[in-house]
Amino acid sequence: MGAVANAKANPGTLFKACHSLARGTRSFLPLPILPLDCSSLSLMSLIVQKFGGTSVADVEKIQAAARKAIRAQRQGHQVVMVVSAMGKNTDALLGLAGEICDHPPAREMDMLLSTGEQVSVALVAMAIHSLGAKAVSLTGGQIGMKTDNSFSKARIQSISTERIEGLLSDGNIVVAAGFQGIDDDLNITTLGRGGSDTTAVALAAVLGADACEIYTDVDGVYTTDPRLLPEARRVDVISYDEMLELASLGAGVMHSRSIEFAKKFGVPIHVRSSFSDTEGTMIVAEAESQTQPVSGAAMTPDEARVTVIGVPDVPGKSQQVFSAIAACKIAVDMVVQNVGKKGRANISFTVPSGELEATLAAVESVMETVGADSITHDNQVSKVSVVGSNMATQTSVASRMFRALANAGVNIHMITTSEIKISTLVPKSQAAVALRAVHEAFDLHQRPQDAQSWSEIKKDRDKADVDTLVSRLRDDALEALTLTGISITEKQARVTLHGVPDEPGIAADMFETIGAAGIFIDMIVQGYDGDGGSTSVSFTVDEPALQASLEVAQTILQKHGMRDVQGGKEIAKVTVSGIGLRSHTHVATMLFQQLAEDAINVEMINTSELQVNAVIDAKRAVDAVEDLKRAFADSLL
Ligand code: ADP
Ligand code: ASP
Ligand code: MG
Repeated sequence: MGAVANAKANPGTLFKACHSLARGTRSFLPLPILPLDCSSLSLMSLIVQKFGGTSVADVEKIQAAARKAIRAQRQGHQVVMVVSAMGKNTDALLGLAGEICDHPPAREMDMLLSTGEQVSVALVAMAIHSLGAKAVSLTGGQIGMKTDNSFSKARIQSISTERIEGLLSDGNIVVAAGFQGIDDDLNITTLGRGGSDTTAVALAAVLGADACEIYTDVDGVYTTDPRLLPEARRVDVISYDEMLELASLGAGVMHSRSIEFAKKFGVPIHVRSSFSDTEGTMIVAEAESQTQPVSGAAMTPDEARVTVIGVPDVPGKSQQVFSAIAACKIAVDMVVQNVGKKGRANISFTVPSGELEATLAAVESVMETVGADSITHDNQVSKVSVVGSNMATQTSVASRMFRALANAGVNIHMITTSEIKISTLVPKSQAAVALRAVHEAFDLHQRPQDAQSWSEIKKDRDKADVDTLVSRLRDDALEALTLTGISITEKQARVTLHGVPDEPGIAADMFETIGAAGIFIDMIVQGYDGDGGSTSVSFTVDEPALQASLEVAQTILQKHGMRDVQGGKEIAKVTVSGIGLRSHTHVATMLFQQLAEDAINVEMINTSELQVNAVIDAKRAVDAVEDLKRAFADSLL
């Protein structure tokens, strides 16, 4: 259906169609909804098609990709292709650099890696020409993809659309290089491994595209990586929130930042196979099922755990540790702070193992200022997580996961939970077993009974909420942090068990017992005690459930020979909500910093892509929220 017809049926589409004609702005600022003057203009729908490395790995595949784009154009669409480097070319370039020097300068690395995509776009454009259609290839710089200057992790600031639009109106297929941009000084930058997805969705967002198709070597998004688990099931639909979490927890099928864009700008994404025409998975606002507690599982094989031992337990100390790490743009996950002995705490967290060296250097640099005793680390660990939009409203999800791991003989070193995910840190040697166990425990191979079918999925771009959001985004800051709220949950209580043996089955037993007592748990964190391999477990409950929780905790303590149980009441949970909170590494740091300035101690913290939660003294919660609102004023919508 043409865009004019669409526009009549759907005012949101009219907005988009008119908007797209007036594109060419440096970043995506909305225009007012115009009266139906657009009908005199020739409007076509626009689609962005992204082809990953394996989809352009050789001449035949390049030709097949070219044919797909030409077919879409002949069906009446304007087509923008986003193309990755051929096959494993990026890895080959990385290998070459490694043969020249151990620590190549970041700028030169980006200069090198960007050549992979440049080869592909030229070849794809040639293939289109030889098949009789018109195409123009463009580098990141040529599409006006302006980024900040963080080489290898650059964030998109703005995209100028004029050139692309001009070429499209002249009947060209535009073939844009994925993964790359330029900074203010015209240096070539790259967005991070897998970043072509982000280029594609960002282009779809600013061009007002009707669809963004991600062509890859799997036929959609699965409940977990089908290469790791053949019984994984392809889902017809997955929500932005779930995909965002899964992607950042290891589901490599999509670059997580591309989902931040999709969610922010309401871009529907269709993930599908390059090698067939079957329908794949739609990533949209709604989830597949309204009841299923878990919709996917993910594993990050190469994680490292770092524990800073003996951190003086006064406000501000965690902040010093995490600012040093955030300054290196390293995303810290699974943060667990345990109150240790004699007013000293142990802070454990995980980072990708490739970032361990840089993380240790960053922490070492502040050890003296912090006044901590020592640092330990373990890089033989993996993170196994489950994700599901309906998790927050259901009981026993955590204990079901822990029981599955216990039955598989897997020892859980650390646990963190947030509203839609539970992550566990397990020995690397047991990661595959752990993933299979949790996948099975939540019946992920089976389609939920209330699953939405392909025909029910809303595939149009829904701009209702997006308009409000976009209009409030600052100019030149497409990928800037976007916070949607800062709130307080009052009347919370905390229970902490110390000296929990670090062996399989304890967490399962503990949370099954608590569940059986009818106690609903919100946050759970488990991390190292720092004294000979035992761990501490803390969880929060509603305040009225504290007494019952302490009684249950006592029975667990006796059964497993733990050290002690502590309860804390009059605490509140402060929640910062938004999009892409984990990938913006400074959010947790700013939160710590603000609370430290207010001399507020953070008792527990958890982070996800959607929220950062801190458990603090209830009496200080209102001050904290007011000050956080001020501190984050630039990012709050
Ligand atoms: P491309 O080069 O097309 O960007 P990627 O290798 O980045 O492709 O992503 C596709 C791969 O993602 C698949 O081959 C698959 O092994 C992996 N993957 C990881 N998690 C999932 C998942 N949940 N669903 C589908 N594929 C997944
Ligand atoms: N070529 C880059 C990589 O291999 C970007 C991408 O494929 O998305 O990571
Ligand atoms: Mg990819």
